Amino acid sequence: MRTYDVAIVGGGLSGVLAARKLEGQGLSVIVIDKSKSVGGRMATRRIDGGRADHGAQFFTVRSSEFQSHVDEWSKKGWVERWFGEKYARYKGIEGMNQLVKNVSKGIPLKLQFKVHHIIKQHNEYVLRSEDESEVRARAILMTPPAPQTGQLLKQSDLRMSKEAEETLQSLRFSPAVVALLTVNKEEETGLPHSGHQDAHLSEGIERVTDSYAKGISNERIISIYATPERSKALYDKSDATIKEDLLNLTSTIIRPETITAYQIKKWRYAQAENVHTAPFLAVSDEEDVIVAGDAFLYGDDSSGRTRVESAARSGLAAADELMKRLIET
Ligand SMILES: Cc1cc2nc3c(=O)[nH]c(=O)nc-3n(C[C@H](O)[C@H](O)[C@H](O)COP(=O)(O)OP(=O)(O)OC[C@H]3O[C@@H](n4cnc5c(N)ncnc54)[C@H](O)[C@@H]3O)c2cc1C
Repeated sequence: MRTYDVAIVGGGLSGVLAARKLEGQGLSVIVIDKSKSVGGRMATRRIDGGRADHGAQFFTVRSSEFQSHVDEWSKKGWVERWFGEKYARYKGIEGMNQLVKNVSKGIPLKLQFKVHHIIKQHNEYVLRSEDESEVRARAILMTPPAPQTGQLLKQSDLRMSKEAEETLQSLRFSPAVVALLTVNKEEETGLPHSGHQDAHLSEGIERVTDSYAKGISNERIISIYATPERSKALYDKSDATIKEDLLNLTSTIIRPETITAYQIKKWRYAQAENVHTAPFLAVSDEEDVIVAGDAFLYGDDSSGRTRVESAARSGLAAADELMKRLIET
C-alpha cells in the first residue's frame, strides 16, 4: 500500500488549501473526508433546480495573506464581492461549496472515509476507518472542528502532550440550525436589496438570506439561521417544529403561504465559543501530527472568531510547519 507524505483529515477550506500548498512543494498528499464531497461548512444544497448556501454565506478578508488567495479566486471567476463597505463580504459565484471544489481540483481525495482512529506502525501513521480500511502517511494534518479532532485523537494511539490535550478539551463549539425554504420566485420578501439581513431581527434569529437575490440560484430559496442559543434549544426537535418556530420569528420577512417546500439542516459543530491563539497545535514533539482549523487563530486576527479566513490561514500555517518537519527528517 502506498504511503503518502501527508494525510489531511478534513476536506474543508483549511484542509484543501493546506493540500495545495504541500503539493506545490513536491510532497504527496491525500485529503480524506467522511462526506460525499469536499467543502465542510462551506456548504451549498441543490434544491429543485435552485441552490442555497446553508453553512457560511460569505467571507471577509482582514489579512494580506488571505487577500492574495481571494484576488486569485476573483480573477478565476470563483468569487466576487457581494456587499459591505469596511469589510467587503465575498460570495462564491456558484455557491460557497463550489469554491472549495475548485480549490481542490487535481488533489487526490478519499471521500466517504471517516477516520476512526490512528496508530503508528514502523514510523508511519495508519489512519483507519470503522470498517478497517486504511490510509498510510508519514505525517498527518487534522482539520475537523476541534471537538471532533479531540475525540478522534482520544481513540488513537499517539503520544499527546498535556498542553495539546488540555487545549483540545477547552475548545467548545455551538450548534447551528438552518431552515431552507423554497418560496415562489415572484414573491417579494422583506429583505434588503442584497438579499441578506443580519441585524434588526427577532431574538433567536441570527441571519436570513435569499439565494435568488444573492445571485447564486434560479429559484428563491431563503436560508433562516437560528442564533446559537436558539439552535441549542431546537436541535433535537422535529423538522416541522423547527420550521414553525423559525417562521414565527421571521413573519415580517417571509409570508408562510408563499412557501412551497422546506428542508432543515443541523450543524452540531458550527462555530467555536472560544478559540486558541496560535494558528495550529502540534500533538506532541514526538509526533508529526498537526491540528489546524478555524478555531486556531493568529494573535493578529482582530475578529477573534471562527471564520472562513481563520480556517484558511490556519491550514496554510500548518502546511508550512509540516513542510519544515518533513524536510528535516
Ligand atoms: C451555519 C454556519 C454559518 C457560518 N457562517 C459563516 C460566515 O458567514 N462567514 C464565515 O467566514 N464563516 C462562517 N462560518 C464558519 C465557516 O464555515 C468555517 O469557519 C469554515 O468553513 C471552517 O473550515 P474548516 O476547513 O476549518 O472546517 P470544516 O469546513 O468543518 O471542514 C472539516 C471537514 O472535516 C471532515 N471530518 C470531520 N471528522 C472527520 C473524520 N473523522 N474523518 C474524515 N473527515 C472528517 C468534515 O466532513 C469536514 O468536511 C459558518 C459556519 C456555519 C456552520
